[in-house]
Amino acid sequence: MNNPLEKLEVFPWNENLDTGIAIIDEQHKRLVLLLNQLADTLVRGNVVEINDIFTKLTQYAEFHFETEEVIWAEHFGDDSWLSSHQLSHSSFLPKVLELKENGSTQSHTEVIERIILFLIRWLAFHILDSDKRMAYFIQYRNKDLSFDDAKIAADKKMSGSIRLVIETVMRMYDSLSSTTLKLMRESHERLAIEKELHKANKQLLKANLRLEALAITDQLTDLHNRRHFNNVFTRELKRAKRDKIPLALIMLDIDHFKKVNDHLGHSAGDRVLIQVSQKLKEICHRPGDFPFRLGGEEFCILAANLNHQGTVEFAEIIRKEIEDLNIPVQHSSTQQYLTVSVGCVTQIPGKTDTIDSFMSVADIRLYKAKELGRNRVICST
Ligand code: GH3
Ligand code: MG
Ligand code: MG
Repeated sequence: MNNPLEKLEVFPWNENLDTGIAIIDEQHKRLVLLLNQLADTLVRGNVVEINDIFTKLTQYAEFHFETEEVIWAEHFGDDSWLSSHQLSHSSFLPKVLELKENGSTQSHTEVIERIILFLIRWLAFHILDSDKRMAYFIQYRNKDLSFDDAKIAADKKMSGSIRLVIETVMRMYDSLSSTTLKLMRESHERLAIEKELHKANKQLLKANLRLEALAITDQLTDLHNRRHFNNVFTRELKRAKRDKIPLALIMLDIDHFKKVNDHLGHSAGDRVLIQVSQKLKEICHRPGDFPFRLGGEEFCILAANLNHQGTVEFAEIIRKEIEDLNIPVQHSSTQQYLTVSVGCVTQIPGKTDTIDSFMSVADIRLYKAKELGRNRVICST
């Protein structure tokens, strides 16, 4: 993201501000830089940063005044120009502090904003008028004019059309700096909003993902549900057709589950469903094995690339593992523990094969397993 704030300055340097005295110009530029930095931190709204730059700026201004006065003193001695210049310097900091203190009813940023506008006006005027006048005086002195003549010549240089230019420039600075500050603030707000939006979007995406996960998960057992079964089956069927590899569907149904509920209660029945599901998850550890709860006490497993022999073995492992959970049932004198019946099918699907064609074969075989006495696997017709 481009930061448009980087291009904005409340106080752009202008070559008209040059006095021609290198050290003074260098320090003026540094003051202007600090002023721009202050505006920048103001817009960002970090109070610690604002105060830090503010302190740096006022300290640097003091230092600069001292440097300048030494230079002027060399040329002006005890002339009134120097004393009025010094007066202007010494009124600078009290004025800034006064602005700061008088603003106690305003927000911190409002105060600093007012100070920035004052500083720009003060600095621009001080440089354009006072400093330049004194710099011209020095130039005329260097051209061997007498002290008084140099003053008259410098005054003359600063009057008339130059005066007009200064006033125009000052007005331009005034409107430019407040507009820029406003623009900077708006840009910053836009950036902040964009950031917030980005964050909100991410949260929405996360919430959507959670919602999607919820929509394909069975609440009781945490297995994927029938809806997801359809998605995965569709995908795996396509893959198996394309790659000409077998796809296995293993369907299982808990035996006499109604009696489990009747004897142990519905909650105990729920716990049994959870236990069986947990076991199915454990057994399906390969990346191509997908367990699902189809509904009630019916489950199934899709296994990619499993041939007939492999499917029979896998189905038998599932049946045995669940029996070995040793979940007690109390509804039968012949059956001690919970069992499941399993019907399965595996084949390299042809063009006409569908989810339904797989399901109906597995279903018929599951029914056959029930018919033949339950707790068994049927994997062929
Ligand atoms: P079969 O061996 O022929 O499969 O007999 P069954 O009793 O297991 O089959 P049936 O379809 O007659 O009964 C299934 C029972 O599963 C009935 C229903 O109340 C129960 N059931 C379905 N969903 C849940 C569930 O979420 N929790 C509990 N506790 N029971 C459930
Ligand atoms: Mg059933
Ligand atoms: Mg059943």
